[in-house]
This record gives sequence, structure tokens and C-alpha cells, in this order.
Amino acid sequence: MAYEVLARKWRPQHFEDVVGQEHVTRTLKNAIEVSRIAHAYLFVGPRGIGKTSLARIFAKALNCENGPTPTPCCECSLCKEITAGNALDVIEIDGASNNGVDQVRDLRDQVQFAPARAKFKIFIIDEVHMLSTAAFNALLKTLEEPPPHVKFIFATTEGDKVLPTIISRCQRFDLRRIQTPLIVERLRTICNYERITIDEDALLAVARGAEGGMRDALSALDQLISFKGDALTEDDVLAVFGLVSRRSLEGLATAVLKADMAEILRLVSAFDSAGKDMRRLTVELMEHFRNLLVCQYVGAETMKNLDATPEQLKTLMEQAQLADAGRVMQVADQLAEMEGRLRFALSVRTLIEMTLIRCARIVQTVSLEKILERLHAIRTAEPPPPPPASKGATFSLDDPALKQALKLFDGKIVEIEDD
Ligand SMILES: [Zn+2]
Repeated sequence: MAYEVLARKWRPQHFEDVVGQEHVTRTLKNAIEVSRIAHAYLFVGPRGIGKTSLARIFAKALNCENGPTPTPCCECSLCKEITAGNALDVIEIDGASNNGVDQVRDLRDQVQFAPARAKFKIFIIDEVHMLSTAAFNALLKTLEEPPPHVKFIFATTEGDKVLPTIISRCQRFDLRRIQTPLIVERLRTICNYERITIDEDALLAVARGAEGGMRDALSALDQLISFKGDALTEDDVLAVFGLVSRRSLEGLATAVLKADMAEILRLVSAFDSAGKDMRRLTVELMEHFRNLLVCQYVGAETMKNLDATPEQLKTLMEQAQLADAGRVMQVADQLAEMEGRLRFALSVRTLIEMTLIRCARIVQTVSLEKILERLHAIRTAEPPPPPPASKGATFSLDDPALKQALKLFDGKIVEIEDD
């Protein structure tokens, strides 16, 4: 049997197989159950998260011999033809290559004829935003008064580019990037089935590289298998994708939080020499600090909503103790600003080094509140100092207690804040 790439072989066949889009699958299944099926649907979302798969599953659900049903059988000839992409009554059009008005006129002619065998004639138009304005207008006429046997399913990566008049005639569903733990879980199932040995860190690295897209994750896995065979480690994945290991990334974040300048410089230099993707490093570091912030503000109960695995959560909880939320917020700001400047930087490495050192100094900064706290502690522990020279001032710069408090923060930057 010819080799079939994983993304194709493991393409979801039932609503339940579509990972991370329950808000959409549940609504579609309900609509079928209560027979409230609209005549046009629009799926919006980034590439490789299951828009076209969902369109095909929905087409099967409508046209299955037992249908319309939320659980198409995938066994009848109609279901099999839709899966294989050669059903007479399910017409798939790629908006990117058939974007002219002629193609849409063809479509309008086809709409008039009743379906050959199935209950509905279903048009799936992928990348619908690529249609020309003339084609959009031609399509609009059909969408205004479609015959009852016709259903449209549109998919697009760019919802903003679809004409509002088209959107208003569709039920719109926004599909999300898939959360990393969900991708890891799906990859684990597939690897078990395909008898591929792969450790948890390697699975996580594949999922990180895919940035929320299941298709990218499976393509990456295919590439890795061609490269390394059926036993994969984290190092293999990191080498292929230029990613930094999770532990190194967390190590860099800890170095920033502990203001360990030598460690920051050592790690950045090591990543640079190993040819790591520095843009990805910045993005991942930003996500890490963002997760840290969520951790600090909302605590453990909301943690399950974070896009992080249990091991990552454990590290985040530990790191959350190292700096207060105000400082972490400032670090995240610095990183976001750096990301915008990366592509203009003559030396990406220098920019990253300078930014991280600035971040470390921010973490080190002591707030006025902390100084006053220490001052108070010293004052209450010692006999009261002689009254200040000027009336009205609580303490002067000659105040021995203040001097002592400042000495405690020796070598650190003191920044006066209102917080
Ligand atoms: Zn069927």
C-alpha cells in the first residue's frame, strides 16, 4: 500500500475527532439534531486547525444515507465518496485557484440542478476570501435565494477579507488555535498507534513548533520520522525546528527573574551558536512571562485554562514566587517591544541580550513601598532616632534609619513608584 502522510491518514472523520473546537462541533451537531440547518456556514480560523475537515464531516452528516445525523456512519457509499473527495453532490472549490467570475457563474448554473443521489448539493469553498469582487457579487445573488437542496460551507483564514454582505448571510464560526496539551495528547495517541517511540518532551516540542495547528504538527512528525526513524527524542525535534528546549527556556526566564546577568549572557550565546530561531525564542519567552502573569494574578484555580502542560505549570508556580506581578508585567512589556524591533535589528543577539539585561534590572528594582516597609521594621526594632531638623518632615536624608534601609538595598536600583 502506498505511503500516506500522517495528516491525511489521521484526518478527523467524526465530529468527536476534531480536537479543540468543541464550541463549533457541539453547535453543528445540535443544529442537525433539531433540524435547524442554515443554508450557508462560514468557518474562520488559522491554517491547519481543521476547517476543511470540519466542512467534510458536516457534509457527511448532512448527506449520509442515515442522515442528516450528528453521527455519520462513514460506511455508506455517500460517506465514503465524501471522505475520498469524489462525491458528485459535494463540490469542493479552492477559492485561491478558482477566483474568477466564470467559475462562480458555473457554480450558479450547477446550483439549479437537484442533487444526483444525496439529499443536498453541498458547495465547500476553501479560502473564500481569495474570490475576486466580481465573483463575490455573483455568489451573493445565489446566496440571497438558494434552492432548498443547496448548502454552502465556506472556509477562510482571513475573515476580515470576506465581504460583509456574504458574512451576514452565513452562520459564522471562529475556530481556535489548538491548545498545546490537546495537540500533545493527540500526537501521543497517533504515535502509540503508529508504533513510534517518542518521549513527552519531544511530543511537547513538536506541538510547540506547530503553534496551535494540528496539520503542521503531523507534517512535522512525518518529517522527523523520515529523518530519524521510529524512535524520536526531544533533541531530534529541537534540531530540526531550531527550537530551544523547554528546560533551557525556563532556565532563561529564571535567570531574568533572579537577575543573574552571567547566566542570561551564557544562555543567549549558547542559543545563538547552536543556530536557534531567535524570533521563536522571543515569542516563547513572551508567552512564558504572560503565563507567569496569569499565574500570579489568578492563582492555581484558573491554571487549567493555561496553554501549558502539568510540568510547565509546576515551573510557573515556582517562578511566580521570584518576582511580583508588577515587575513581571514590565518584563512582558519589554519583550513585546523587542519583538517589534527584531526584524530591524542589525544584531538580533545583541538586541536580545540588552533587552533581557534590562528586564533583569527591572526585576531587581525595589519599590518605594518595600523601602518604607524596611524602614518601618528598622524603626520599630530600634530606639527612636533623634527628632528631624526640619519641622513637618517625617524623615530627612540624614536620618540614620533611612541610611540603614538604603544600605540594605545596596547595589540595587531604587525606583520610586506609586504602587
Ligand atoms: Zn453514511
